[in-house]
Amino acid sequence: MSCGNPHETDCRTVLETVYSYLDGEIDHEMRHRIAHHLTECAPCLSQFEIEELVKALVRRSCTATTCSGEIKERIMASIQAARTGVQTSTAEGLTS
Ligand SMILES: [Zn+2]
Repeated sequence: MSCGNPHETDCRTVLETVYSYLDGEIDHEMRHRIAHHLTECAPCLSQFEIEELVKALVRRSCTATTCSGEIKERIMASIQAARTGVQTSTAEGLTS
């Protein structure tokens, strides 16, 4: 996984650090070096984007799992409120 061009930071180093980068477990300087490398190295960038995509998907599904109950409750509450509103207005429409 290399574009053949020499870089300040080695491609292998960048790819080995990608996971740490995505987890935010590396220091500011290393983060900057990787970000800089990704701007000039297309193969590493595409690799990085895949990893980031996977990470984002995992994060999203985890959030959905932990919040599903709360979200369901909120949705049910809003449905209930909407139903009540509809019933009220319908009743008013019928009586007037
Ligand atoms: Zn590279």
